Amino acid sequence: MTFNNGRIGILDAGTGIRKLGHDFAARGIEQYDNIFIGLSHTHWDHIHGFPFFTPAYDPRRHFTIAIYGKDRTVDNLQSIFATQMQHDYFPVPIDNMGADLIFWQSDNTEFTTPSGIRIQAARHNHPGGAYGYRITEGSTSLVYCTDVEHASGIDPNVVALARDADLLIHDAQYTPEELKEKRGWGHSSWEQALEVALQAKAKKVALFHHDPEHNDVFLLNIEKECQKLFSEAFLAREGLEVDI
Ligand SMILES: [Zn+2]
Ligand SMILES: [Zn+2]
Repeated sequence: MTFNNGRIGILDAGTGIRKLGHDFAARGIEQYDNIFIGLSHTHWDHIHGFPFFTPAYDPRRHFTIAIYGKDRTVDNLQSIFATQMQHDYFPVPIDNMGADLIFWQSDNTEFTTPSGIRIQAARHNHPGGAYGYRITEGSTSLVYCTDVEHASGIDPNVVALARDADLLIHDAQYTPEELKEKRGWGHSSWEQALEVALQAKAKKVALFHHDPEHNDVFLLNIEKECQKLFSEAFLAREGLEVDI
């Protein structure tokens, strides 16, 4: 995310963060004081891009890697990040990356940053638990809600978090048919993502967390189907920029 004052924030640290690191260099991002990385949860696909995030090797950089909310199941966030970089798995230990890394586990579900960005976190159903975030600057809101399984019907807490969002980024891993076979796996269908967007009256919805078994042709067909039901629905794509 890039805010009005040019500062950036990051949500999760999956494979996309590797390319974001290259964008830091290409765009000359000079935010050296602190960059916030908010985590939905610590499943592998949400943290394993971090060892390949080149700005974390720059000793001038400072990152706060944070996970929020009550009833967290994460005991030691620092150790989760350090473990994936221990020498059995990766050549560089986390302490040798270079940047200053602060790990922050907060019970707060709501706070406002010094620059006036309001962040709300809400836990949703996922194996091990996961959090959705609503990030508001002025009257503009982005809601990030991935790795969510709507256990019975649509979770009203997710709809409340996404209420009137300018952009909702929602899990849409499965087709409605696949979802029937994948109960308990912790994800949503594209149909449920649209349902949340419609109930919440979100202005745009980005379908996120694509199933690795779905190829581009398959996904583009899903996007077409979704746009028949919700014209401002689109697939999240690597490198995509959305103005809100
Ligand atoms: Zn997960
Ligand atoms: Zn995931």
